Amino acid sequence: MRIVKYPHPTLRHISRPLRRVDAELRKFVAEMFELMYEHRGIGLAANQVDLPYRLFVLNITGDPAAKDEEHVFINPTIQKWAGNAEADEGCLSFPELYAPVRRAEKIVAVAYSLTGEEKQYEVDELFARAIQHETDHLEGRLFVDRVSPTHLLNLKEDLSDLEAEFLSDQERGVIPNDAAIAARLAELERART
Ligand code: ZN
Repeated sequence: MRIVKYPHPTLRHISRPLRRVDAELRKFVAEMFELMYEHRGIGLAANQVDLPYRLFVLNITGDPAAKDEEHVFINPTIQKWAGNAEADEGCLSFPELYAPVRRAEKIVAVAYSLTGEEKQYEVDELFARAIQHETDHLEGRLFVDRVSPTHLLNLKEDLSDLEAEFLSDQERGVIPNDAAIAARLAELERART
C-alpha cells in the first residue's frame, strides 16, 4: 500500500458504501494508519491509497501513541453543518502544498466504526475540518477544488509539477495507465460494495 499523489485518477473516484467489515478490511485500516503516521498526516482516505472504498482514518493529534484519538469512518455522512471558518489545509496526496479553505465550523457526522457500531460525531474546529476534507475525498473532491481562484493561482506551478511527475511515472510504467487503474478499481469494488 502506498499513498497516491495528485493527479492520480483514483483521487477522483466516487466511492460506494462498503457492505461489510472483515479481516482484510481491518488490515487495510491498520496499514492506512501506519502510512498516515509515517507521512505525518492526521487523516487518510481510502482512495488516497488506491482503494475505492467509502472509508477514512483520522487522528487529529497525529500522534501514533494516542490510540484513543484514532477514528475509523466507514460509510460516513455529514448530516448537519453550522458556521464557517477558513484555515490552511494540506493533503498527503499534495506533498508540501498548503492553502486556505473555507468550511463549516461545526458539523454532525455519522459513520460506522470498525466494530460495526454506528457512531455520531458532533464536532468543531480541526476535527470538523478533517472530517469534511476526508469525506470530500470519498466523493472524488480535493481540497484544491475549494481553494479561491487567487490562492489557486499561487498553487498552479506546484500542481503542474505534480502533473508532470505523474505523467512521467505513467510513461515509465511506475504507475499503470488509466484504463488499468480503472479496471482494478472496478474489480475491488465488485468484491466489497
Ligand atoms: Zn487529503
